[in-house]
Amino acid sequence: MGGGHSHLQVLESLANRPLADASVTLVVDDHRAVYSGMVPGLVARQYQIPDLTVDLRPLAATAGVRVVEKPAIRIDPNQRRLVLADDTALDYTVASINIGARVAGLDVPGVLEHALPTRPIGEFVYRIEQLDDSSRRQILVVGGGAAGIELAFCLQSRWRGERTEVTLVDGARALLPKRRRLARRVLAAAKARGLEMKSSTVVQEVKPGRVTLVGGGSIPYGLLVWAAGAASHPLFTESGIETIRGFATTRRTLQLLHHDHVFAAGDCATLADYPETPKAGVYAVRQGPILSHNLRAALRGEPLRSYRPQDDFLTLLNLGDGTALGWWKGLVAGGRLAMRLKDRIDRRFVERFRQL
Ligand SMILES: Cc1cc2nc3c(=O)[nH]c(=O)nc-3n(C[C@H](O)[C@H](O)[C@H](O)COP(=O)(O)OP(=O)(O)OC[C@H]3O[C@@H](n4cnc5c(N)ncnc54)[C@H](O)[C@@H]3O)c2cc1C
Repeated sequence: MGGGHSHLQVLESLANRPLADASVTLVVDDHRAVYSGMVPGLVARQYQIPDLTVDLRPLAATAGVRVVEKPAIRIDPNQRRLVLADDTALDYTVASINIGARVAGLDVPGVLEHALPTRPIGEFVYRIEQLDDSSRRQILVVGGGAAGIELAFCLQSRWRGERTEVTLVDGARALLPKRRRLARRVLAAAKARGLEMKSSTVVQEVKPGRVTLVGGGSIPYGLLVWAAGAASHPLFTESGIETIRGFATTRRTLQLLHHDHVFAAGDCATLADYPETPKAGVYAVRQGPILSHNLRAALRGEPLRSYRPQDDFLTLLNLGDGTALGWWKGLVAGGRLAMRLKDRIDRRFVERFRQL
């Protein structure tokens, strides 16, 4: 289930080494897998939609995998059955889930009606491309994680040369609290570009053209982008699966805590042994090879491999003007070279699956 970063690699592995003795089905809500790392660049008009999209159908065909394009809504691990949105069901021997996350805070009154949430990301990119120019004058981004910060800079760059006011708000006391040196550089760049970034600012309600804040006050907007972090799909709790904050709890083998024949990877899962691992694509990418191996091993009754999340990861924030700000193990560097590195890493990842 799901065409996330880990499953792209499972498909790649099946394309390179087909499974002769098993039939494999990929259940996705959308056959277009959008690579999120390049989405801010799309917003800044550095890329076009095809640059950051992998069509899962030809990739699955190369891998000998059948594609069912319907959202999965429930899994019954005891019956080994997956239920789809149209109430049809699929039986399985081994299941693997890589369905990503939803955006947090959708229950704040008015968000669903008035905001543009960053997830589902496929919908986000198509809606961004359809925005009319009247939205550009006053942009409010809610969420000061890496995605929200990149989007704030890139939205400003999208309408470069026009009068565009961009404000970012975040409920936490400081932006990027675990990367304070990077946060300082972000704030300096924001100041230089006339972008406002406010922490300790919590949205209470979204009304047409204005958000009201907890503790009083309000901020007007023409476009409201909701990038308030990751929240789980309801699928796991609705299926009675053990979760941590709604995310499927997994072992180091990426198997669910209590079900050997169901695996979960990427944002949708939380490792019992490493519950604080951030929800970021780099972890889903690193889990891909382990998941590919373990799915084959589970079918053959062979030993499984264990995954251990890396302590830190390279962060490259696209500032939308041809430069990026990079963080690696406490060191911060910025400029055109950092953006070139980001562009190369991202393009390579997408190209890998498109070439297949
Ligand atoms: C704007 C933005 C920029 C980001 N930039 C970065 C970055 O530079 N680096 C980084 O590490 N992280 C980044 N992230 C975070 C990153 O997007 C996620 O951590 C990553 O996508 C998680 O990957 P995944 O494989 O778990 O799932 P996803 O990539 O989210 O894929 C999930 C897949 O499952 C499908 N699906 C969903 N629900 C269902 C269902 N019910 N049934 C069937 N299929 C379903 C979806 O269509 C999708 O194909 C960014 C996020 C955003 C919003």
